[in-house]
Order: sequence, then C-alpha cells, then structure tokens
Amino acid sequence: MKSLQDNCGVFGLYAETECVHDIFQGIDFLQHRGQEYCGIATFDEGIRIVTHYGKAANTFRDQELGYLKGTWGIGHVSLRERQPVRWRSQLGEIAVAFGGNIVNADELIEEMKSRGRAFYDGYNVEIISKIIMEERDVVAGIRALSKIIRGAYSLVVLTRDGIYAARDIYAFRPLVLGQGPGKYVIASESRAIQNLEMEFIRDVRPGEILLVNDKGFQTLAQLDSPRRAHCAFEWAYTASLDSIIDGVYVQEARNQLGGSLAQRDMDEGGLEVDIVAAVPMSGIGHALGYHKRSKISYQEVFLYNRYADRSYTQSNQPAREKMAKRKLSVLQHAVKGQRVVLCDDSIVRGTQILYKVRDLKEAGAQQVHVRIACPPLMYPCDFGISTRTYEELAARRHFKTGNITSMKKLRDLEALIADQIGADSVKYNSLDAFVSALGIPKQQLCLKCFDGLDPTETQ
Ligand code: SF4
Repeated sequence: MKSLQDNCGVFGLYAETECVHDIFQGIDFLQHRGQEYCGIATFDEGIRIVTHYGKAANTFRDQELGYLKGTWGIGHVSLRERQPVRWRSQLGEIAVAFGGNIVNADELIEEMKSRGRAFYDGYNVEIISKIIMEERDVVAGIRALSKIIRGAYSLVVLTRDGIYAARDIYAFRPLVLGQGPGKYVIASESRAIQNLEMEFIRDVRPGEILLVNDKGFQTLAQLDSPRRAHCAFEWAYTASLDSIIDGVYVQEARNQLGGSLAQRDMDEGGLEVDIVAAVPMSGIGHALGYHKRSKISYQEVFLYNRYADRSYTQSNQPAREKMAKRKLSVLQHAVKGQRVVLCDDSIVRGTQILYKVRDLKEAGAQQVHVRIACPPLMYPCDFGISTRTYEELAARRHFKTGNITSMKKLRDLEALIADQIGADSVKYNSLDAFVSALGIPKQQLCLKCFDGLDPTETQ
C-alpha cells in the first residue's frame, strides 16, 4: 500500500422510503477513498447518527442500521476524521460531512478563538461546521466558507429541509449527482450511483450550492469560480476504475496514461521485453493501456490477497514489508525467465516498488523495467491527499531543488531511481505527456504535487 491516500468520500440520499440501506451501500462503494472511519446520519424528526472506526462492511451491525431511521441522510468514509458530526445550533440540528483539506486551519482556529469560540478537537470538519453555523442559514454559511477557507472541500450537510451539497470554487475533489426511482443522490464518485442502479446525472459545478429534497435538486447559489483545479491524481490513482469524473472516464484515462508510456518507449527505439504486467490494483489500468499501445502480451505476475490487512497500518518497516508480501504474492510460473515491463501509478517513497522489483527478480525475472503513469512526485499535497513530507518523496531526495523542467533532467532522475529500486530501467510520463494523456486542459487541473504551483495562487 502506498503512503498516498485520499482522505474522504461523501454520500447523501433523499428517498421516498427508508434510506439507510442505500447509504450503507453507497459508503461501501466509496470505501477505497478512506478506510479508517465510516459513519451515517439520517433525519427522522431529529438526527440519528452512528460512526465507527473501521470499514463500513466490517463495523455496522443490523441493529444500528435499524436505528438509523428516516428517508434522507448522509454517509462518510475517511482516513483521518470520524464523520458525520452532529451539531445543535441556531440553524437547528444539522450533521456535516466533508472530504478535502483546509490549508489555513490553524489560522482560522486562532481567529475564531480570539472571538471566544472554543474547539473540541480542531478537526477540519469542526472548523467547517462552526463557520457555517455562525451564519443565518446553510447557504450563507457555505458562502462564508468559500471566502475564508484556503483548501479543498466537497461537502454534505443534513438538515430538516433536506441535504445541502457543495463543491469548493476550484472543484478539487469530485462530487456527482444521480437519480433513481423516487431517489436523489450525491456522491464523491459515480460508481456509488451506478452500482446502486441509479442514473448518473452530472458533476456538481465548482462553487455550486444545492439543496436535495422531495423537489429534487435545486441550485441555490452559484459562487464565482476563479478557475477549476481538479486533482489530477483522481484519474491516475485515487478514484475507482469504474467512475467518471468531470467528464473523463477513469479507466480511459489510465489506459491513455499507460499508452503514453508505451509510446515513449516506442519513440525512443523500442523495448525488447516479453510481457507487460501491473502492480495490483493501482497499476492495472496503466498496464492494460501499455499493452494495447505496444501490442506486448499482458500477463498477471502478482496475486492479490484480498484478505491481507493493509500494509501501512503496520508499525515498523520490517512488519510493513512482511505485510506487503502477504498482500501480493508472485506468480512464479509467469515470471521465470521473462523480461517484464511493470506498470504502476506513482512512486512515493520508493520502498513498495523496490520490493516488487526484488520479488520479481527473486522469482526468476530476467529483466524488470518499471513504468510510472504520473510524473515524479516533487511536492506534498495540501488539498486532501495524504502524501508524506518532502524528505520522504523518493524523487525529491534525488532532486532537492527545482522542478523536472526538461527531458534531460527527467532521464537523469529516472536513472537514479532505477538504481535505487534495482530496476533495469525506470520511465515516468513527463508532465506534458501526463496532461495530454488525461485530455483535460492543464489550466483546469491541480498539478501541485508535480510542479509545485498552487492553483489557488495561479489564476
Ligand atoms: S497537490 Fe496533487 S494530490 Fe493534491 S490535489 Fe493537487 S494534484 Fe491532487
């Protein structure tokens, strides 16, 4: 498991009948966006809420689902904050859940403390909720948020009137709308809609504030958006392969990114190899794209053990290494004597890909050429993806200052990384190739972890 995770997934449903089972399944379909916490709140005269440490499918009991009565409600999965959170305020009883990150959280807490406000734990969701609850209504509260928060948020607020939903003015994190018979749904990803057999309608626009209730979707406000800044990582890694985000199918994007890596190999003289393989699960779409473009056979070389625990929860490196091995075992028969192109989405610290290369070589692979869909990660993310510090980013360790501004610099870095992980060669997509493969204009993407440019400062 990479040390690169999204923080949250949000879900909201307004229905004619009891909503909890759809919400439970909805957050289960979003579980890949955060596995530490999950929660559901429903409205039935007042707010009923149950949250857990752990995944939805492992933690919710029938009794709790029975308690969560009502025909509208919200759900949440998270890596770091237990949500939704319920409040009693001048706006009545509300529950709030959000995905993203507030960059200026400390500053906002200090400012609010200076006005006599107190904080329970200072989590992002608490700051967001308190800003909203200071205003006369939820729409005014979300308007206020957009003016003072620096960061990313996709948000659902459960109230007596229905569910308010909003996406920040840059639309960093995805948020989509869907509809089924007698049901209206909001979700972080379209997969939660289509797998519940409802119809995907559209993406929530940057700065759009909606109310979802028995009248359907009503846009209550459209805030000015200086630019879009969709997280480019969604298509490369975070989102599920079966989702469509801001008009681009994730599977198609990953295939194109893998195809672009194959094209570079072909343009640079071709690569004499026997098979294309993926690091499951994140590398599969990329490897299939490489295979389609290069016509080199696709072969699975790792068996994914769905029962293994996640590697990053292990407390030390040897334990993490053991767990990583339990999670992906090598299919020795497929590998022995083969020259392998191994595709993955990104390299963070470099330890996981090092183990994979080593495992393949120990199983008898003649050569392992690593191909990485994303450009080198040079900067930590401020907007809701939990990357590590500068020091932990493998590319940054080799290039301490400055960006990868030329193919020469990229090739120099690739040689250093290949040496570090014991691969016969390493190639990344350049930033230009990456953007062109996604097919989204560069000025509509956040690429800060690759180029260091904060999209909220570059209009
Ligand atoms: S910095 Fe990177 S991970 Fe974070 S929002 Fe921007 S593109 Fe996504």
